[in-house]
Amino acid sequence: MDFEVPEKMKIILEMIDEFVEKELLPLEPEFLNKSFKSMLPVLQEKRDMVKKMELWAPNHPKEYGGMGLDLVEHALVSESLGRTPIGHYVFGCHAPDAGNIEILHLHGTKEQKETYLRPLIEGKIRSCFSMTEVEMPGSNPVMMDTTAVKDGDDYVINGQKWYSTAADGATFSIVMAVTNPEASPYLQASMIIVPTDTPGFNLVRNISVMGHAGDDYFSHGEVLFQSCRVPQKNLLGPEGHGFVIAQERLGPGRIHHCMRWIGICNRVFDLMCSRAVSRIISPDRKTLATKQIIQSWIAESAAEIQAARLMTLNAAWKIEKLGAKSARFDISFIKFFVAGVMQKVIDRALQVHGGLGMTDDTIISFLYRHERAARIYDGADEVHKMAVARRILREYEGKIVR
Ligand SMILES: Cc1cc2nc3c(=O)[nH]c(=O)nc-3n(C[C@H](O)[C@H](O)[C@H](O)COP(=O)(O)OP(=O)(O)OC[C@H]3O[C@@H](n4cnc5c(N)ncnc54)[C@H](O)[C@@H]3O)c2cc1C
Repeated sequence: MDFEVPEKMKIILEMIDEFVEKELLPLEPEFLNKSFKSMLPVLQEKRDMVKKMELWAPNHPKEYGGMGLDLVEHALVSESLGRTPIGHYVFGCHAPDAGNIEILHLHGTKEQKETYLRPLIEGKIRSCFSMTEVEMPGSNPVMMDTTAVKDGDDYVINGQKWYSTAADGATFSIVMAVTNPEASPYLQASMIIVPTDTPGFNLVRNISVMGHAGDDYFSHGEVLFQSCRVPQKNLLGPEGHGFVIAQERLGPGRIHHCMRWIGICNRVFDLMCSRAVSRIISPDRKTLATKQIIQSWIAESAAEIQAARLMTLNAAWKIEKLGAKSARFDISFIKFFVAGVMQKVIDRALQVHGGLGMTDDTIISFLYRHERAARIYDGADEVHKMAVARRILREYEGKIVR
């Protein structure tokens, strides 16, 4: 892989870095202390600026008004935007819309694309993705209780989902439900588009996560489907292919997340170093930076971030060149490795800030709390480690090693 950043990307990244620094970081105190909904007008202003700069929807298709960047290019963008929790939202490449856009683009009918995909890419509406269930293990989603039963021209959906990120204020959800219970486990479920104003789509609550229920885009909904009736033309992709399509969505999605996490690492690393050189800890005016233990954290963090970054770019490059299937294990590596690095680096940055790190006067405490979930969603650490280890160990079966 060639690590040289093309000239076109250097310019784009410089513009994004400057925008994040000047326009978005100053909004963070408000973001930390107010509801997301109350920030929508100012965020819309920033979105309009991004559109004028022609940096809107960097990873989405050009034909729909995006920039059409490839996966490696967008990985670099995601790193820059990851410096702030509002970066991806303001540039129109935020989860879960980004994943839903990919699915709709690849599998949507002409009508679905006009009704849902176009306004989604334009940032006029939002969406959510409802797969995980309260009573069933999300780590093994073939165990699914939600059903969609055909009745006349409709599907009638019943079930209880949770962790539908950003359901609050979403226009539609892509719902995974069992449509073919008699088929083999991986061919039982389908994806169905459900407008959130359909009778029977009930947003029960925004789940309180680590003391914060959040609101609007920054929330995770519990959704109860009670005889929720949608036309069969809302089926997305072939019936029974829900898991096949979900699998496609996860490869690029994990690259986006991992590079966003690298952006977070870079941000807290900067804060940690800046605090270390400025915090005086003795009367002879020595700073934290003079202490070996802090130096060790800084050196370890720098090396780990570098390793995580190169692994992720390599996985992105492999997906681009060989397809997501060939990069399956590289994707599993980065999913648990980068999440772990991020957790360690945020923790060290918080520790270096002492009491200040625990307050909401810096972004660190928000990131410490909010990003813990990285080791759980899109496949918990343990699931990825098992998949990788099984494949490695298979190569040693019956082999004599000297
Ligand atoms: C912040 C956040 C956002 C999310 N957003 C969405 C969303 O938008 N849409 C959606 O549908 N879902 C979403 N999820 C749900 C997420 O995908 C699930 O939480 C995840 O798949 C794990 O499922 P579970 O919570 O049911 O845990 P379980 O499957 O019950 O697993 C619990 C734990 O058991 C361990 N474990 C599981 N399987 C194994 C195994 N085979 N071997 C060893 N250990 C194992 C792991 O440590 C795991 O963390 C989100 C979750 C979070 C936290």
